[in-house]
This record gives sequence, C-alpha cells and structure tokens, in this order.
Amino acid sequence: MSAAPRTPPAQRLPAAYSLTPHLIYPHRLYLLHAIATALAVLALAPAMWALQVPPEHWLTTVAFGLGWPHLARWRYRRARNPNRAEMQHVLIDGLLAGMGLPLIAFNLPISTALVAVTCFAAMFGGGPRLLIGNLLALAAGVLVGIPFYGLHWQPGLDWLSFLASLPLAWVAPLGLIHIGFDVTQGLHHRRNELELRGWHDGLSGLFNRTHWEDTVRAEFARCRRTGQAATLIMADLDHFKQINDLYGHAEGDSVIRRFADLLRTHVRDIDVPGRYGGEEFGILLPLTPLPEAMEVVRRLHRRLHEVPLSRHRTITASFGVAELGADIDSPEAWIRQADLALYRAKYDGRDRIAERSVASFVPEGPAPQAPLRPALSPREPAVLSQLLQGIDIADNPVAMYNPDDHLVMANDAYIRLHGIPPGVMRFPDIIRHAHRLRQGVALEVDAETWLQDVQQQRRRAPRRIFSVATLDGRRFQGIEVCFNGGWVLTTLVAATEPVTPA
Ligand code: GH3
Ligand code: MG
Ligand code: MG
Repeated sequence: MSAAPRTPPAQRLPAAYSLTPHLIYPHRLYLLHAIATALAVLALAPAMWALQVPPEHWLTTVAFGLGWPHLARWRYRRARNPNRAEMQHVLIDGLLAGMGLPLIAFNLPISTALVAVTCFAAMFGGGPRLLIGNLLALAAGVLVGIPFYGLHWQPGLDWLSFLASLPLAWVAPLGLIHIGFDVTQGLHHRRNELELRGWHDGLSGLFNRTHWEDTVRAEFARCRRTGQAATLIMADLDHFKQINDLYGHAEGDSVIRRFADLLRTHVRDIDVPGRYGGEEFGILLPLTPLPEAMEVVRRLHRRLHEVPLSRHRTITASFGVAELGADIDSPEAWIRQADLALYRAKYDGRDRIAERSVASFVPEGPAPQAPLRPALSPREPAVLSQLLQGIDIADNPVAMYNPDDHLVMANDAYIRLHGIPPGVMRFPDIIRHAHRLRQGVALEVDAETWLQDVQQQRRRAPRRIFSVATLDGRRFQGIEVCFNGGWVLTTLVAATEPVTPA
C-alpha cells in the first residue's frame, strides 16, 4: 500500500486555445493587405499623372502595389517564425510607403494617408515598438526613394489628390479595427468557455467540486450576514462499484450522467447541484429551511425508484441533509455535517434519507469497546489461523474481509485501531469514516485515491506487505493475503508512535 500522494500531471490546453497571433492574422490580414496596397496605388495615381512620372516608375509602382501582398503571404507561409515574418512585412510596408513619398513629390493628402495607414498597421500588429520601427522604415524609404525619383516638393492640395487618398485613409483603418474587434470578441468567447470548463465537471456537466464548494462558501457567508436559511444535501449512489464491475465502466459513467440529469431537472432553479467526487454529489439549497429541503430530497429519492437510472436495475442513492444551524461555524463544517448524515443513511441500510441531528452519530472519544462480531463461517477461522501462523493475534490488529469488502471477522485490536462504530461493515466505509473523523488510521493522503490504489494493488499481488502513514504521524506495516476472493489483513508493526500535540 503505497501512501505517497499522487499529483495529477499539469493539464495542458488543447492547441485551439493557444491564440497566438499567427492563428488569427494571416487569413484576415492578407485580404486587407491586398486591398490596402491596391488602394495606395490608386491614391498615388493622380499625383503621378500630374507629375508625369516615366513609365518604368508606373510599372514598378503597380507591380509592387499589386504583387507585394501575395509575396508577403508566400513568405509568411514558408517562414519558420511566421510572427516575425509578419512584423518584417509591416516594416517593408513602411519602407515602400516611404519610397512612394518622393515619387509623388510629397503630395500632402496622399502622403498623410500613406504615413497614417502604415502607422495604424504597425501599432495594431506590434504596439509602440513596431510603430517606432515603422517610422524609421518610412524615413529609410524616403532616403532610398530620393535617388530614384529625385527630390521635389509639390504639396498639391488639390481636390483630386484629396479624393484619391480617401479610400485608403478610410478602408484600411476600418478594416484593422474590424479585425481587432473580431479578435477581441473571439478571445472573450474563449475566455468564457475556459471559465466554464474550469467550473464544470466533464462527465456530469454539473459544477465540479472546487466551484461547488466556492458556491457553498459564498452562501454560508450570505446566510451569516442576512440570517436566512439554507440547507445542504449530500447524495451518494448505493453499491455503485457493482455497476462498474457487473456492467462495465461505460454503464457506470452513464448512470452518473443520468443522476446528474435527474438533479438538474428535479431541483429548483435557485438550487446548485455539484459533483463532489466519484458517485457523490452535493446540492446547495439557498433560502430553504429543513422541511422544504426534505420535500426536495424526497422527490429525488422517489424519482430514483420511478425511473431507473440503468436499464439493468434500479439504482438507489443515500442522502444526508444538513440545515445551516447556528452551531455550524464554517462552510467546511456544514459540508461535513451533511456528509455525516449521508454516512448514517449508508450505515442504516442505504436507499434512504438521513437528517443531520446535532450531537448524534459522531462518536466522541474512543471507539466502542464492545465491538461488532459478525458471524463467522465455520471454515474461516481455520483458514485464518493457518494464514496467521506465527503472528501474535492478541496484540496485532487482524481482520478478514469477504469479496464484497464486508468485514467478516476482526479482533478487538483491529476494531480499536480503526475506531469502527457499530454497523460500519465495509472496508472503504471504515477507512473513510476514520479519515473524516480524523481518528484511528486516518490516512495522510486522500482516502479515495488511496482506496483506488489498494484495489489496483490487490489485483496485482495475492500477498504483499503494506505500509500506511496516518495523519497523526504513525506508520503501520503489515501483511495482506488474498484468499477465496476476499482478504485478510494484519498489522504487525506500528513503527512510530503518534505525534501528540504540544
Ligand atoms: P456505497 O453504497 O457504500 O456507496 O458503495 P459504492 O460501491 O457506491 O461505493 P465505493 O466507494 O465502494 O465505490 C465507488 C465506486 O465508484 C468506485 C469507483 O471506481 C467508482 N467511480 C468513481 N468515479 C467514477 C466515474 O467517474 N465513473 C465510473 N464509472 N465509476 C466511478
Ligand atoms: Mg456509493
Ligand atoms: Mg462514494
């Protein structure tokens, strides 16, 4: 029995959720880039016409204007680092726009539109750093352009230049803003989705334990502030392990889903059901005193018998109900009270509802000295004595369980060690009970994980040495032997003494 806590591996988000720019930009920006450069050529045209630039300059301008966006896309697709390629393209845009300025003798309306649009694009794509880069690229473009086109100054504040610059000045910024808006919406949507994923349990679709407990905490604080009533229900499916064992894990999963559906449809809108773990569920009933809560829980209980959760058989559940009383001093204590009531429903025979009753059930002080002694089958003591030959049974805790995990026999040492109250018969219940009440062999690790681990190990080894660390700092070592489908457990050594609080 390894007692080492198991930490789940850090969960990684699927690739679709890593919204790096290169997943968003290329398709949208390519089209806008192509349109904007075509509009830039259109804006340059009247000034170039008025300046009577030679045909080769027309040719290079039109070729660059119409060809460059496609070349940029080709580069982008082949680039090892597409984001860096996209940044470089923004700078090349700036360089080309800068070269265009001496070509049109710094025609003011058109130059303004070119400079403004490249600055918007740089700011949009890479923030202030890329904006500065773009300004430098523009300046470099002017310096490169002057030897080609000469240095002339014709601000040309005419209507035609003004009109020609308008499409570029409007379409490109609006296109950028539109893409920015869409991206923001997409991110917002994805953030909501991730938030919901983080709150919900994947199988049942109900709130997961963490979020459900947060809700209980908030309700606890609200009730304490306002003095209003609220009630908690804990529910656990009965003999659920058998469903998995007999009909398969998929059927078990389907039962969990159907039970979750039942909770969703048969509680009120203000009630908050959640999956507490495995086949245990919690339901928070705000603004609900105990009598009303009992109506809700009776309805759920009845419904399980009316419409079976599995086509193989009726599946029942046990329910524990705890109204928030003045004596409950924390949300954790509230959940624990509902949980204790649930366990009483289990011990009383399952398929029933138990209310929290103050100061009952929770065994105070040491466990009962006159323990249960389940009837022994005549064969078993003999087998047991053979198995335990050489072990001092008087002082060593020893127990025998049948294949259903029911306690068949236990000596006083074992019952004292675990603090087993009357009626608690199943091994998982004994362990959980000790763990919940922090008594006996209360494990250092999460009880459910530990129990699953034990199941796996039993399947692997018919006889093994186990070692258990408890909350109070003790470590027990013993042997476990499987026989007749059940098993015998004996604790040989309590290696360390309990740590007594100072
Ligand atoms: P009890 O009446 O005492 O509650 O008995 P039980 O069999 O319901 O309780 P036990 O704790 O022994 O078994 C619970 C089982 O639930 C063990 C575990 O494998 C199974 N389980 C936990 N989570 C899931 C799940 O998500 N899907 C399925 N199919 N089984 C699960
Ligand atoms: Mg159960
Ligand atoms: Mg359970």
